[in-house]
Amino acid sequence: MKNVLVTGGAGYIGSHTVKVLLEKGFSVVVLDNLLTGHLKALGKEVKYYHGDIADRSLVLNIVKNESIEAVIHFAACSIVSDSIKRPDYYFTENVAKTNRFVASLLMGGVDKVVFSSTAAIYGVPHSVPIPEDAVTQPVNPYGVSKLMIEQMFYWMELSYGLKWVALRYFNAAGAMLDGSIGEDHEQETHLIPLVLKTALGQQKSINVFGDDYQTPDGTCIRDYIHVLDLAEAHIAALYTLEKANKGVVYNVGTGSGYSVKEVIDIAKRITGKNIHVQLAARRQGDPDMLIAKVDKIKNELAWLPHYSGMDTIIGSAWEWLSKNPKGYRS
Ligand code: UDP
Repeated sequence: MKNVLVTGGAGYIGSHTVKVLLEKGFSVVVLDNLLTGHLKALGKEVKYYHGDIADRSLVLNIVKNESIEAVIHFAACSIVSDSIKRPDYYFTENVAKTNRFVASLLMGGVDKVVFSSTAAIYGVPHSVPIPEDAVTQPVNPYGVSKLMIEQMFYWMELSYGLKWVALRYFNAAGAMLDGSIGEDHEQETHLIPLVLKTALGQQKSINVFGDDYQTPDGTCIRDYIHVLDLAEAHIAALYTLEKANKGVVYNVGTGSGYSVKEVIDIAKRITGKNIHVQLAARRQGDPDMLIAKVDKIKNELAWLPHYSGMDTIIGSAWEWLSKNPKGYRS
């Protein structure tokens, strides 16, 4: 398998995955509508189509002209708070459009898809680490939309023979180690980029959303996974699609977690800046702890995280942001 279509390849996780695919000798074609992605994240060597995943004639043309053999499907809306404000939009953009997209792929003869799912499908877990067979009870429309797609894939497999892998990401973070590409969201909501923006003086302080959680220091614990480790997981998933005879879901995380306070302390050390902290109210729907059980992907795909130490995560994100304080507008 050589020719891979990456939807949402100009986005944060997509663009890092594209770079790693190219390094490994894949021939990569990107389809992106640039609603949230950045053309600059792709570089000139990548073949790029501007457009929507629901545009059937465009998708069929790409599949045919580029002899596409498999797809990595990142394109989605992914801001949790936004999904609560306008659930209909998320169900259209994520669920309905993916439904149409996958039907187009099958029509064009492509039956292999790696899908970016999320730990948000677990909702508030009963215990951690969370295995793949834990109860899935998402607490926001974003998580519901991703779970619906996993379920859709199950039926597309039974009825049409779709071959699929869904990767349930925990907290994606970090950047290309040389700082050449990184995270740039117009509406930034994630902890690590916001902490580093505070270090740069782009905002006065970092809000800590609650310090009375059931954790040792009272702040929420999350499982942060370096974006390059995520990229590698997609490639391992692509290879497994060649021999897989059944759709499968994998958690992608490290199996251990850091609290919000720990993240801020490490960022202070790495940046050498004084980062002002402001205690704020809890954010709706934040569980105390989210940590992945990662035995399944380690055992079945021989995947291991290599870049997900917190120093590497924050160090690479800092390299990117300090070189590009305005992101791709720098
Ligand atoms: N968080 C915080 N301040 C911020 C952003 C996030 O305290 O400005 C906390 C948030 O409550 C959560 C953790 O940091 O416990 C990670 O949040 P993020 O939005 O990065 O990822 P999520 O876990 O929501 O996917």
